[in-house]
Amino acid sequence: SSNPADSNNLRVKLVLLGDSGVGKSCIVLRFVRGQFDPTSKVTVGASFLSQTLALQDSSTIKFEIWDTAGQERYAALAPLYYRGAGAAIVVYDITSPESFIKAQYWVKELQKHGNPDIVMALVGNKADLNENRSVQSQDARDYADKNGMFFIETSAKTADNINQLFEEVAKRLPRPAP
Ligand code: GDP
Ligand code: MG
Repeated sequence: SSNPADSNNLRVKLVLLGDSGVGKSCIVLRFVRGQFDPTSKVTVGASFLSQTLALQDSSTIKFEIWDTAGQERYAALAPLYYRGAGAAIVVYDITSPESFIKAQYWVKELQKHGNPDIVMALVGNKADLNENRSVQSQDARDYADKNGMFFIETSAKTADNINQLFEEVAKRLPRPAP
């Protein structure tokens, strides 16, 4: 849940949504362990990891990260998964237009059934595969703007923008009154 410990040390449930194969697990492992394993199977299967981020104002955010182990294929299970989430990272693969369409489906789901204060990020992953790009950054940015989300392109492989993604989520979380 997103119960804050106090205003300087927050705890937040964060979920990742998106097609299977877009790199959700790799983003989590890059953020939490600083690793990328190119030989990992389609889902590395970590289901729960936590990571504390220190912000510039010396407050901390403990992310309780829920990663799916393939349940993203079962839309009916999703509400259980994102219940109580204070933040959601919706991921697509910049080389896959289908995954961008699917990301839009998840955004609508969250708008309908998620916590109304949820902080949502739209993430175009696999930015290292720019030569195979088929989702234009501007299209994704326009979609994110219209839906009150922030947008970033990442690479779990090269680590590009991974910390920035979580820092930006952290900055946007509502702070309880001190
Ligand atoms: P998930 O099903 O969304 O959790 O996807 P995974 O994290 O299991 O990754 C699926 C596949 O994409 C794996 O083969 C990863 O090695 C690969 N992958 C993940 N992130 C990146 C990335 O940023 N760049 C590239 N080139 N491959 C990636
Ligand atoms: Mg996975």
